[in-house]
Amino acid sequence: MLVVVDVDYPRTLLELKKRFSSDVSCAEYLAALRWHARWSCPRCAATEGWTVRRDHWLCGHCRYEMSVTAGTIFQDSHLPLTIWFRAIWQMTSQKNGISALGLQRVLGLGSYKTAWAMLHKLRRAMVRPGRDRLSGTVEVDETYWGTEESGVIGRLSANKAIIAVALEEDGRKIGRVRLQTIPNLTRATWHGFIAASVEPGSTVRTMASSPIWGWTVTSTSVMCKQNSPMTSMSCLVCIASLDC
Ligand SMILES: [Zn+2]
Repeated sequence: MLVVVDVDYPRTLLELKKRFSSDVSCAEYLAALRWHARWSCPRCAATEGWTVRRDHWLCGHCRYEMSVTAGTIFQDSHLPLTIWFRAIWQMTSQKNGISALGLQRVLGLGSYKTAWAMLHKLRRAMVRPGRDRLSGTVEVDETYWGTEESGVIGRLSANKAIIAVALEEDGRKIGRVRLQTIPNLTRATWHGFIAASVEPGSTVRTMASSPIWGWTVTSTSVMCKQNSPMTSMSCLVCIASLDC
């Protein structure tokens, strides 16, 4: 069966249930995504092959048999592909995403842990490996994830997770975003985050109180935000070294 993936994708939940009503239809769709219109053996590159079980392909040349889910997030999952496809639909069609508890309820899953593990796998899969770093003018700051801590103020945090944030400026809008949990707010940690997230030659803006203040200039400049209490001249002192 030839599947045209971009035309064939359902637009409503009703269409989804109809289109992906069985594991076979899901497997055919996955095969079309992986191999487009032409299957090719990962071992010998032969293009003559056929399906031997619901989601397995057999090479007509070297007899290698593989599952269409091999090497994907669905590999070795005890859940049917129909459930995975519905989870993906729920995750991507909701404006604010979906929680593990919400997913458990809507899919009728037996355990919260299963729903949580599915979401975790899907979120990891949504990060494009080798993605481009941010460029142009990028604002860098940190935020905290966790409950209020009595007696703890400002940057101090006893139990909260620290999340480094890099936002690319795109005219008057926010462009691409990079987030990463970091263990502390030391200059070395910031250096690693910025080096991984921002292209050398970019301009990084940050708060004047940031510990990355004071780096040596090479190809990427770090300046403080315009609303910083520091003067613009001192803000324009560039500070970062991102070439290492
Ligand atoms: Zn082969």
